[in-house]
Amino acid sequence: MNITDIPKKWDMIVVGGGITGAGIFREAVSIGLKVLLLEQKDYTWGTSSRSTKLVHGGLRYLREGHLLVTKAAVEERERMLREAPGLVEPVEFLLPVYKGEGPRKWQLDVGLLLYDLMAKEKQHRFVGREEFLKLSPYIKKDGLAGGFCFFDAQVDDCRLVLRLINETVEDGGVAVNYVKVSEVLRNKKGEVVGVVAEDPETGESRTLHAKLVINATGAWGETLQPSPDPKRHLRPLRGSHLVFPTSVLPLQHALAFIHPADERGFFAIPWEGAVLVGTTDLDHREDLSKEPAVAQEEVDYIMAGVHHYFPAVKASAKDCVATFAGIRPVLSEGKLSPSKESRDYVVWKKNGLVTVTGGKLTTFRRMAWETLKAASIFLPKTKEVKKKEPVFRPLPELPKEHYGLSPETWRRLYGRYGDSAIALVKEAGPEDLECVPGTHTLWAEIPYVARREQVRHLSDLLLRRVRIGILCPQGGIEHIERIRKLCKTALGWSDLRWENEINMYNGLWRSAYWLPSDETCEEKK
Ligand SMILES: Cc1cc2nc3c(=O)[nH]c(=O)nc-3n(C[C@H](O)[C@H](O)[C@H](O)COP(=O)(O)OP(=O)(O)OC[C@H]3O[C@@H](n4cnc5c(N)ncnc54)[C@H](O)[C@@H]3O)c2cc1C
Repeated sequence: MNITDIPKKWDMIVVGGGITGAGIFREAVSIGLKVLLLEQKDYTWGTSSRSTKLVHGGLRYLREGHLLVTKAAVEERERMLREAPGLVEPVEFLLPVYKGEGPRKWQLDVGLLLYDLMAKEKQHRFVGREEFLKLSPYIKKDGLAGGFCFFDAQVDDCRLVLRLINETVEDGGVAVNYVKVSEVLRNKKGEVVGVVAEDPETGESRTLHAKLVINATGAWGETLQPSPDPKRHLRPLRGSHLVFPTSVLPLQHALAFIHPADERGFFAIPWEGAVLVGTTDLDHREDLSKEPAVAQEEVDYIMAGVHHYFPAVKASAKDCVATFAGIRPVLSEGKLSPSKESRDYVVWKKNGLVTVTGGKLTTFRRMAWETLKAASIFLPKTKEVKKKEPVFRPLPELPKEHYGLSPETWRRLYGRYGDSAIALVKEAGPEDLECVPGTHTLWAEIPYVARREQVRHLSDLLLRRVRIGILCPQGGIEHIERIRKLCKTALGWSDLRWENEINMYNGLWRSAYWLPSDETCEEKK
């Protein structure tokens, strides 16, 4: 939808198309409100495409004593596993125990026991050294005493947000990307009456009316509403990942470690055909309007972790296929080290403007409920939020005609596209019901999302609608001619537009999804 076509009057305008905004959008439409969601760039362009992709309680939060944050997250994880199979999937983690290094076995056992209690199920066990080495043959053997196996869950963060947005739009909500809220409008009494919205690329703008504006802009939160506590402000903390092909880091299981440099939790996780390794935690001092990128010190930190725990794997940073960096919005007095800051969320409200920031992907639904509770005085009377109802639409049975796809592939497609998965497959040629090499993505997904999911730029398509941009070498550029052919009608771009998009995508990929020095990129080619 073009900005000039957006209807003017709304019960609520949600600003921010990440998980927080999408969750509030979903819950608000489900109780009968007329809601508009606006995203300044692309959906999930912010932190919500750059997470570790876990739906988890967060063992590290337990270690730091944030028991309630962990408990809420574990409960949400269990709920999402039930409600969104194929999108949120269980993942078995290994946690090695070393003699004289890192936390003691009993400490980890207590933490995992608490985790189990929160999930109301015994999910962890200890295995001895030999069995552990069978599960993880490349792990450092020196001092290894064995390790724990436990469960968490993983997700495609972008598809989680997009499934929420797509299903909410089908239920009557309106969501528009590439529309920035530049100002919140107030009347003489200071009450919110609407927003000024503009397309940052075309410069077109429009005034929209609502008595309630939800500021779900994450790290950008204070640009629309300054913190009510002058001592505590949003502290942008960057976390980065390196993505390795499984040929370089051949892991069957996810591994959780303690990083030798600072004893922070650290992960290596098989995901969508590759392995994600991270993350870091440091102050992000760069311009927030630019895509964040991994710094050399973070690459060194991640590689130090890889070399320490996988000494037999002769990987160097140059062997990765991509990198990505995200910004945690953390409310802080600025006195603690980054990893000691609480990851809980905050809700501020004033005269029809409600800000919600912080938190996790995992707890998006709780954040949405809290926000709607805080916002209720600015809203018309509606139905009650139904906390026991599933957040996603129930899925139909698997179709009788399988089109040659395995039950696992159907499960994955249903998880990502809900009941639209059937249309996706029916529209595809048989040659497109195969995976893009090195990924779990079907070629058929690309034109399907290009046609239906408000793709404005090639980067929207390859980095967020599908994740080829972080899973394939050089951002998947070797596949560009096939992608171009597949999406020709869906995108309707001229040859010149394609050339421009490809150039922009290449430039962006090198600056924000690859290693800091471009020389390494040259070397690899
Ligand atoms: C490295 C890292 C790893 C993480 N791993 C996990 C994990 O494994 N599991 C987990 O549960 N959580 C994880 N998190 C936390 C989680 O990713 C974030 O809490 C969550 O994504 C924040 O979502 P959000 O919607 O609040 O913010 P964002 O995703 O940043 O969305 C805010 C959006 O608002 C838009 N916006 C800003 N200003 C405007 C404006 N004026 N007008 C319109 N739009 C605007 C932005 O463009 C942006 O898209 C991780 C975070 C980081 C940094």
